[in-house]
Amino acid sequence: MSELSTHLAKLEAHLARYRDKGILNLIGGQDVAASATFETRSPVDESLICTVARGTDADINAAAKAAKAAFPAWSAMSGEARKKILHKIADLIVERAEEIALCECWDTGQAYRFMSKAALRGAENFRYYADLAPSARDGQSLPTKTHLNITSRSAIGPVGVITPWNTPFMLSTWKIAPALAAGCTVVHKPAEFSPLTARILAEIAHEAGLPAGVWNLVNGFGEDAGKALTEHSDIKAIAFVGESRTGSMIMKQGADTLKRVHFELGGKNPVIVFDDADLDRALDAAIFMIYSLNGERCTSSSRLLVQENIADEFESKLAERVNNIKVGHPLDPTTEIGPLIHKVHFDKVTEYVGIGKTDGAKLAAGGDRIGDAGWFIQPTLFTHANTSMRIAQEEVFGPFLTSIRFKDETEALEIANDVQYGLTGYIWTNDVTRALRFSDALEAGMIWVNSENVRHLPTPFGGVKSSGIGRDGGQWSFEFYMEQKNVAFALGQHKIQRLGA
Ligand code: NAD
Repeated sequence: MSELSTHLAKLEAHLARYRDKGILNLIGGQDVAASATFETRSPVDESLICTVARGTDADINAAAKAAKAAFPAWSAMSGEARKKILHKIADLIVERAEEIALCECWDTGQAYRFMSKAALRGAENFRYYADLAPSARDGQSLPTKTHLNITSRSAIGPVGVITPWNTPFMLSTWKIAPALAAGCTVVHKPAEFSPLTARILAEIAHEAGLPAGVWNLVNGFGEDAGKALTEHSDIKAIAFVGESRTGSMIMKQGADTLKRVHFELGGKNPVIVFDDADLDRALDAAIFMIYSLNGERCTSSSRLLVQENIADEFESKLAERVNNIKVGHPLDPTTEIGPLIHKVHFDKVTEYVGIGKTDGAKLAAGGDRIGDAGWFIQPTLFTHANTSMRIAQEEVFGPFLTSIRFKDETEALEIANDVQYGLTGYIWTNDVTRALRFSDALEAGMIWVNSENVRHLPTPFGGVKSSGIGRDGGQWSFEFYMEQKNVAFALGQHKIQRLGA
């Protein structure tokens, strides 16, 4: 039996219960019968996976009430007790990592070779924030000559978490783990295109002993369930990952209830290759950072900025490698790229192939659909583009790279910063001073020098400009879910101004 057949057989066993009952909402610790449903289909062959509860305003209201009711006890529970439960969630994720990876690949089209690691990364997110839970209330002492200022922290309340369809499992853990560690309760609205692993994660959380109502799952569409969540008066904050324009809608929707927001949004990230770089490593990293995960990744290096004196050779090696990328069934462990998530997204990516051609860039690799079932596309490379073209400005979010040539450092920086986004940047040079100077001036929240994206969990993750508001990771996302309080004790000696005396 091939590994692919083994994976398919295991997948079928895992899916059986969802095929039977559909994916239900989980509110106040209970499965809730859906008043309406929608279908989720695999991007591999468009076959039906199962039906999914289509959450309504009433479901969101019930979930927000459950989160509100559970909040006092959860936030008052000792950090040590919360820590234990969060570690238990991590243990169960590790136990079910294979199931999570198989389901995620089938639901999203991502290649198994990457997804098996993403599930484990999700467990690490829980462990990291589990260990911070005992410090959730910690504050500072900030004395002055006249007052002793003592600060303390407390959980902000029930929060809404809205996640996208790309790497949905990992991103859900990334948002929910710090919220729970801080003492918040959660209503999670996962993306409509990839609901499977969010349900598994919520089940795991309950199995780990999370009290009813602490974690509520409401599936459905952005315009109804998502919108209702952002407008609900019991929800104190929204942590959102998705497109920049959705972020802006959420800000408007949350304005009446003065929602605190945390946004991880889109990107059009440059990888800048100077002529003095280690070009073999730069080539490997540039390819990895746009084509792995089907290019459906916010940190992907979707713009290659290459110095003109090395461009011919670099682009020709690049095109050769891009043509060799193995596109195939996501559950085949040798596959490097699977299908795009959905027809809607496939249409968007293929439309950009036409736009690139019309704008006058050179199609150097790919661009065509593969087969006639599922949403497979050839990894695509455009060269000889300029910064004003739409394929150099807009987020395509697929295995689609736009290469632009630059003369010198000044021009490279101008091009790199000439987009509305500012999430990541990748700089390749062996000149340390230039790397420091360039990274200082590059408008991005995260920059890697001579490296692909390698993340250390305590570091801040997020973007500037249209790429986001706030930072994930470390203390940053932990603090997002907290209120700060300062109590100033007078030492009894300062002069109080006397009015009317
Ligand atoms: P999207 O904005 O279309 O949807 C994201 C989520 O928002 C979904 O759950 C959707 O149902 C919900 N939503 C849609 N409209 C809503 C509304 N009016 N109110 C409330 N919720 C609403 O994004 P997507 O297409 O699912 O994901 C891809 C995008 O996510 C890309 O732009 C990508 O760059 C971005 N992303 C960013 C990061 C990051 O860390 N910066 C990480 C991953 C993905």
